[in-house]
Amino acid sequence: MLLSAESICRKKMKVSGVVQGVGFRPFIYTLAKKYKLSGFVFNDGSGVVIEVEGENENIINFIQNIETSPPPLSRIDACSSEAIELKFDDEFVIVNSQYNTPLTMLSPDIAMCDECKREMFDSKNRRYMYPFINCINCGPRYTIVEHLPYDRKNTSMKSFEMCDECRKEYEDPTNRRYHAQPISCYACGPKIELVSLMDECSAKDAEAIEKICDCIREGKTVAVKGLGGFHLICDATNEKAVMLLRINKHRPTKPLAVMFETIQDIQKVCTVSKREKELLLSKERPIVLAKKKKNQNLLCKYIAPNINTIGVFLPYTPLHELILKKLKSPIVATSANLSDEPIIKDQRELFQKLPLVVGVSLNHNRDIVNGCDDSVMMHVANQNMTLRLARGFAPLSFTTKIKKSKNILALGAQQKSTVTLAFNGNIVMSPYIGDLNTVDSMEYFERTIETFQRFYNFKADVVVCDKHPKYETTKWAKKYIQKNPQCELIQVQHHYAHALSTMAEYNLDEEVLAFCFDGTGYGDDGVLWGGEVILATNYNYRRVYHLEEFLLIGGEKAIKEPRRVALSLLFEIFSLEEIYSMQNDFVASFEKQEIQTLYLMRKRAINSVKTTSVGRLFDALYALSGFLEPLQYEGESGMVLESLSCEFQTKKKYKFELKNDYISCKNLIKSVLNEEKKELIAGKFINALADIILQISLQFPNKRVVLSGGVFQNADLLKRVIAMFEKNSIAYTIASKVPVNDSGISLGQAFYALHQNSSKDDYE
Ligand SMILES: [Zn+2]
Ligand SMILES: [Zn+2]
Repeated sequence: MLLSAESICRKKMKVSGVVQGVGFRPFIYTLAKKYKLSGFVFNDGSGVVIEVEGENENIINFIQNIETSPPPLSRIDACSSEAIELKFDDEFVIVNSQYNTPLTMLSPDIAMCDECKREMFDSKNRRYMYPFINCINCGPRYTIVEHLPYDRKNTSMKSFEMCDECRKEYEDPTNRRYHAQPISCYACGPKIELVSLMDECSAKDAEAIEKICDCIREGKTVAVKGLGGFHLICDATNEKAVMLLRINKHRPTKPLAVMFETIQDIQKVCTVSKREKELLLSKERPIVLAKKKKNQNLLCKYIAPNINTIGVFLPYTPLHELILKKLKSPIVATSANLSDEPIIKDQRELFQKLPLVVGVSLNHNRDIVNGCDDSVMMHVANQNMTLRLARGFAPLSFTTKIKKSKNILALGAQQKSTVTLAFNGNIVMSPYIGDLNTVDSMEYFERTIETFQRFYNFKADVVVCDKHPKYETTKWAKKYIQKNPQCELIQVQHHYAHALSTMAEYNLDEEVLAFCFDGTGYGDDGVLWGGEVILATNYNYRRVYHLEEFLLIGGEKAIKEPRRVALSLLFEIFSLEEIYSMQNDFVASFEKQEIQTLYLMRKRAINSVKTTSVGRLFDALYALSGFLEPLQYEGESGMVLESLSCEFQTKKKYKFELKNDYISCKNLIKSVLNEEKKELIAGKFINALADIILQISLQFPNKRVVLSGGVFQNADLLKRVIAMFEKNSIAYTIASKVPVNDSGISLGQAFYALHQNSSKDDYE
């Protein structure tokens, strides 16, 4: 059939976003064949370039198809097309390309897909039970990459020479493993091996899985190398095993995540909503906080003591899948690390750091280049919230309205560290690094910065950090500026950065009313802030309310001692004599001498700091509810109070009072002391907090409300606030992809610097 000349045309297209290493070119190839188009496709430094020639109508359909159903792991940020002269090629081909500026965004690691799972459990398949099966739609990405572009030779798979059969699949554009960089099989790929600290046992391949399962059944704590690091694993149904892990890891109460073989198994233990189920089964496979069923007795009681939710997840690598299939029982799977340090990713480091915790490890020889923890999510009041941004979601990249900018490196806060880069209209957030309290964690922090600088050929023109003089990130920034004097330093107030992180995620460009409630951050006046209500734009902010200041005895160290925090508050309200005369368990828990010493410390302002922190208020309420032990982990008081308020539902509330520019809690504390039903304290307090947020929001009728800071990880508080907002038609925004906790700070910092350094012409 002859085609009329007018209906034939040629188009050149450029597609950018997450379009490399995600099966984009074979997708284009198949599509071009379908629409009988000739031409070519290749990767370049900014994405994918396509030229197609054929019937006009087919080209229109071709383009529509790209936009409406791109490959599952891809994300198209921009797609341009222009008509060019005909070239009369014979066919459509994929061109292998050379380029030097890898500006395209890297895909995060993705859980094993259904097709690979089917193959893995198919006894006739050549990858039957193969623990490293993957394809273009699944498997490791970020964790194995040394350099961009994402090509096998730039990953830790470079030391594995492909066998002929794998190569055939790799080179066939119609195969789902076409250019799947980590492709491998029994003949050519990585291998698993059981290793032990005392050399008492060793095994390979299927036998290694057999033996590791035996160890778990015996109640031992074992280690398993996953995608982004090692997990510590034990039988989640075995009380002794879980206690052993807790004792050895010095982690008495912090909740442990549990991995189940199937979603049905999770549903035996937790109530799982439709949206939670979607999250659990998503290609990212995060840990999801789900409500524990009251009558469940499968999991042992030490998994998440005093808390009504459990972090649950499903196997996301072939290896996890094989272990759970064999074991038929849920496992505790927690990141192998020293408390809140970054995750351990090397076998040697594992036995060096945790010799008393773990003696047997299931190792493999595919190196983890970049460590990456498990992501943690929850679903609350109709939206997903990211509590830990890591595997599957990070590196998190998006585009901004400001297209031209200096290279910005933002360092985040001190806890739950992440770093963010901004360049050429792109923002890239690193995965969760951890708390920066040790030399090792600082090394990991620096390594993460180096990795991202290398990926994107990036050298900072601007470094952004917090205002806290004692944060390691602040010290690092100042040192960096000394060494690189041409580089500019910007410091952003902590709570303003919290507000900005949400504004950045949604590209908000208006003045918002932001409630920034968290543990502590350094205030502009040197006070430890944490109960801030601010009017914020992308350029500046103004504080409109804050929680009433009180003197925290013991300074930031008091953070682990809720009793002291509560006593600090009582000192603000009552005289020493009045406190002595109080008849309650809380005051009775102190020696008279102890109260006196603390009182004198306060009076002489020894080791005491002023604070406006809502996080500390939670600590005080926790102690006044009868929890008198020191806190074991960050956020414990909030989580326990949340569980109490869910269990003992009440509509009653205490009352905060609004003064000139602050929120007073003195009368609230008095009411708490007079409370007859202690179990209601949590619920009435959370109701009071929701109520004061509403009262203040109503004073600013035309402002969108932003809720940010760690306190808003409290699902019960959020539910109540959002219900009130909807009833009162108040517009609000809460971060979803970006954590509201300190992991979001680096993004807020970068967003601020981006606006400081731009003029109107820099916008798209
Ligand atoms: Zn797959
Ligand atoms: Zn092979």
